[in-house]
Amino acid sequence: MTTFSIAQSLDQALQALADGARPVAGGTDLVVGSRQGKAPLPDTVIAIDRLDELAGISLSDDQLRIGAMVTHAQLMVDPIIAEHFSAIADAAALVGSPSTRNVGTLGGNVMNGSPAMDTGAPLIVLGATAELQTTSGNRQVTMEELWVSPGKTSANADELCVALNMPARPANSGSAYVRLEYRRAMEIAVVGAAASVTLDDGGMVTDARVALTAVAATILAVDLGDALAGKPIDEASLAAVAKIASETATPISDLRATDRYRRHTVGVMARRAVEAAGRRAGGETIAIPVNRTLGIGASQ
Ligand SMILES: Cc1cc2nc3c(=O)[nH]c(=O)nc-3n(C[C@H](O)[C@H](O)[C@H](O)COP(=O)(O)OP(=O)(O)OC[C@H]3O[C@@H](n4cnc5c(N)ncnc54)[C@H](O)[C@@H]3O)c2cc1C
Repeated sequence: MTTFSIAQSLDQALQALADGARPVAGGTDLVVGSRQGKAPLPDTVIAIDRLDELAGISLSDDQLRIGAMVTHAQLMVDPIIAEHFSAIADAAALVGSPSTRNVGTLGGNVMNGSPAMDTGAPLIVLGATAELQTTSGNRQVTMEELWVSPGKTSANADELCVALNMPARPANSGSAYVRLEYRRAMEIAVVGAAASVTLDDGGMVTDARVALTAVAATILAVDLGDALAGKPIDEASLAAVAKIASETATPISDLRATDRYRRHTVGVMARRAVEAAGRRAGGETIAIPVNRTLGIGASQ
């Protein structure tokens, strides 16, 4: 029998976690998973959806803060996210169905720790940290530190994720997220890739990052070496990105795809993500999500 309560204040939620309760945000992983028999509901659950401290998106001179309770539906249309942190909006727009996106949250996606989560690769390439709070303090952890193995994070049971923070974007920057999918709704990524690109005034790459979805035990950051730095985004540099991404991936075979297929297609997704991020960095508008606008993934 599960005991359920609704937190009326952040202090109450933090105290409940300290006493052994699990937080529930939208419930699209926790509750749906228990109904599907993946794991029973915890003995004590506390809803965190009414906490103002976990809501809202705010951009200061040097930092973006996204409250943990911000939903995918909010992320995909928010003007700040869509314009400056586009990879997050690309990812949020692909999650589940409208009903999943209306209640599913960024904090829940991150803390659920699935290697197939769509917002994970965008958060890595945008340099995000998770803000974890307890009754006694607050710490920031990078995404790479947070995700340990499928479904497991390094957060302690009494730590509540209150926000995801990331640096403001430099000039001439763009980002994008694409995924291979077999159908358009109620689907998770077969593989996916996010990219962030910054260009100089001559169109040469000054900074580039790539991260991969569903090809390892956690979301995977790619070491691009000198594949892009100081170079234009052209056929040669994109081919190099695809090769490095495929070589970095350590995918498994399951009923959705073989390891060989995942290794190849994640290279294709990586080069498409870099290409789209580069076009955005150059000032082009590519409507959210890139998957639909550029015809990547399922056709219907
Ligand atoms: C039909 C369907 C389709 C889906 N499609 C996709 C998809 O395409 N892409 C994708 O990435 N995901 C998908 N999902 C998974 C899910 O919708 C997302 O992961 C969603 O973002 C989870 O958010 P939530 O608020 O519902 O999390 P919840 O289910 O409330 O919580 C998930 C986990 O995180 C913990 N948690 C939640 N919030 C916090 C917090 N603030 N601090 C600490 N711990 C916290 C909970 O205790 C729980 O362990 C799908 C799910 C369904 C049911």
